[in-house]
Amino acid sequence: MQQEPEKSSSFRKTQVNTTTSTDNVVGKDSSIDSVLSLTDLVNVQSINPSIFVDLKYSTTDNFMKMKLYERLKTAYLQKDVAERLSKCQAYLSSIDSSLHLLIYDAVRPVSTQAKMWKALDSIPSKERGKYVSNPANKSLHNFGAAVDLTICDSKGKALDMGAQFDEFNEIAYPTMEAHFLSKGLLTQQQINNRKLLRKVMKSQGFRNLPTEWWHFNACSRNDALTKYKILDKEPKL
Ligand SMILES: [Zn+2]
Repeated sequence: MQQEPEKSSSFRKTQVNTTTSTDNVVGKDSSIDSVLSLTDLVNVQSINPSIFVDLKYSTTDNFMKMKLYERLKTAYLQKDVAERLSKCQAYLSSIDSSLHLLIYDAVRPVSTQAKMWKALDSIPSKERGKYVSNPANKSLHNFGAAVDLTICDSKGKALDMGAQFDEFNEIAYPTMEAHFLSKGLLTQQQINNRKLLRKVMKSQGFRNLPTEWWHFNACSRNDALTKYKILDKEPKL
């Protein structure tokens, strides 16, 4: 932890929150933040350059139609999570060498989560949780222990999953696939594409959310709390 990480593979001088208490809330600087660095967060592509990245929140191509990341341009995850994802890519390549994992979002600072939450403040908070996690309840994305992703071809073209990333309707629910297939609103090919993604992610113990075909958790929230630190703010890269 003392070692200065390489700039290309890790965040430097990042500000982190080592507790989950509300004393150290978003936007509040504390001296502990400035002396800690997140040496365990790594650039996924430094572990496996075959994994493609298109961070949707660093562009306006997302459900908020807003650029939410000011500096974050690529995918960072906890090192052990990135290593597991690298094995998923190897497994996918062994099935079809033309296919790649394509990451839409990885570590997400709590400050960004708060920005999303605030931008949707016209929606009552009870309802809002359907679209964005309440920043008070830390998301596994805040630890770099969750990843949003799809599969793409060698040119970066995403496979057809039958619903877009960040689609909030039931058509995006893995639990509703049989229903939508019977209604003719999802094709067997679209479901097979989702199944392929689940199969490669499950091979390394990632767990899919029942309401988002693209979201995979690397561990439980309790495990994350004991193993990892939370990224409070976008680091200065
Ligand atoms: Zn997600």
